Amino acid sequence: MTQTADIPVTPLSESPLELKTLLAAAPLELYQHRAKRLETLTSDSPLADYLELCRRLALVQADLAANADFGPSPITEAQASLKVIGPETDVYWQGVLQQLLAKLLLQTEEPIARVVRLLMQQSQQQIATWGRALRQGQISQVPAQFSLFLWAAMGVYWSHWAPLVIKRMDLRQIEQQPLCPVCGSHPVASVIKDEPRAGLRYLHCSLCESEWHFIRAHCSNCGQDKEMSLWSMDDHQAKVRVESCDECHGYTKMLFVGQAPEMDAVADDLATLVLDAQLSEQGFVATTTNPMLLAHEADGSQ
Ligand SMILES: [Zn+2]
Ligand SMILES: [Zn+2]
Repeated sequence: MTQTADIPVTPLSESPLELKTLLAAAPLELYQHRAKRLETLTSDSPLADYLELCRRLALVQADLAANADFGPSPITEAQASLKVIGPETDVYWQGVLQQLLAKLLLQTEEPIARVVRLLMQQSQQQIATWGRALRQGQISQVPAQFSLFLWAAMGVYWSHWAPLVIKRMDLRQIEQQPLCPVCGSHPVASVIKDEPRAGLRYLHCSLCESEWHFIRAHCSNCGQDKEMSLWSMDDHQAKVRVESCDECHGYTKMLFVGQAPEMDAVADDLATLVLDAQLSEQGFVATTTNPMLLAHEADGSQ
């Protein structure tokens, strides 16, 4: 891994109306795109079995995004946010979870099938508690074998309602922030887009799949803009690079989706774990969360 040359930073537009501070996901298309990307990445990967499980999961998520019963809107006139939503919504995302598990069970074998059946047997109250813990970043409070499935179901539910929240938000009031303005979760990675202008950076939410603008060369964790370093596996044209902060020692991956639209934040983050290992060796800590890799988090204190 080498440190790359400085990449030109796109200044904020002189006509800020061009720039959308918050982008809503289209869940069906997003999950289908993710599944397709995982399929491509599976060949030649040492993680092939795991990526294949994630691909099946993404396809089930796509199916549910189109067909699940999401119940009444959890958003009120007074509160256009998914950061804290009431326990009355638990029954709906848990409905999504049970459907997700049932569909997955038809296409998985032991030992995954055993985990799926075990999760299906848990009480609603227990699942609600685990779901809340995951959303609050207390990942170690949830049995690692269940996290992937719990988060996948919550992702379908939260991404379904996020576009409605975004519609109701005053986007001019959205400030640059490290956590998702819609649901308060950590980003998976940065994505660098070439529309409407080249080199715009957005953070991609790990839960509701929304994307929010974040100026380049500023640390997305602590906000400082002086001591940032860029890394990549091969050369400075690499489609995945890492931006690390010398101040807080956090890092985030940057995926150049403008140049490679087939990339997906979750799938490509998973496929480049070797970068995480190298950054970790150098004393840096990820400031991001991958929804398909929660079992590997040491704790939720990030
Ligand atoms: Zn979000
Ligand atoms: Zn920092």
